[in-house]
Amino acid sequence: MKCPHCTIAFYDNWVVGAMNRGAVRLGWVYRSALCPECTDLVIEVSPSAKDAPWQMLYPAGANRGPVPSQVPANIVGDYVETCNVLPVSAKASAALSRRCLQAMLRAHGYRGRDLAAEIQLLLDESDPAKAIPSTLRMTIDGIRNFGNFSAHPITDVTTLQIIDVEDHEAEWCLEILEEMFQHFYVRPAEAAARKLALDAKLAAAGKPPSKG
Ligand SMILES: [Zn+2]
Repeated sequence: MKCPHCTIAFYDNWVVGAMNRGAVRLGWVYRSALCPECTDLVIEVSPSAKDAPWQMLYPAGANRGPVPSQVPANIVGDYVETCNVLPVSAKASAALSRRCLQAMLRAHGYRGRDLAAEIQLLLDESDPAKAIPSTLRMTIDGIRNFGNFSAHPITDVTTLQIIDVEDHEAEWCLEILEEMFQHFYVRPAEAAARKLALDAKLAAAGKPPSKG
């Protein structure tokens, strides 16, 4: 995992402590880790010291840095929810990630019978201006394969289906969403801004606007 405060790094320097009530040991344990980058604390609790699920108490949600300003508000809302749910439930976070990804795909015309088909439409994009970079092709294709995702048809009804996923897979989903923000919103906006600047220069020189 990344440090939920600064998202730069995380070090498993956990210090575990038992929770007592007076002299009585309750069985509950807590642990804390100190991030060497931002020096902030991460605190988790568990009902048992043995192989129990740890639940993050502090910070309450995963901080993954600011969302680019070009991303529409409804997508940002889904994404923030997805981040906030991650420390509590990797499964729920992954399900919300899939829904957020589907909303972005559909907003860009990739509409199929289910999310897997919509991802395929994106991978098959023949317009070079809209095709995703090869590095992203591999990761986004991976979203279909982890957990039991490929065994479950993800239809409109079941996009939010709760599927077993590992914590790192839910985090991976968030990374894919962040890369899709760049692909669908940030890079096109930057390209449009460059074209505007170029056309302004051309107009100043008395030439027609650029193509594209
Ligand atoms: Zn940190």
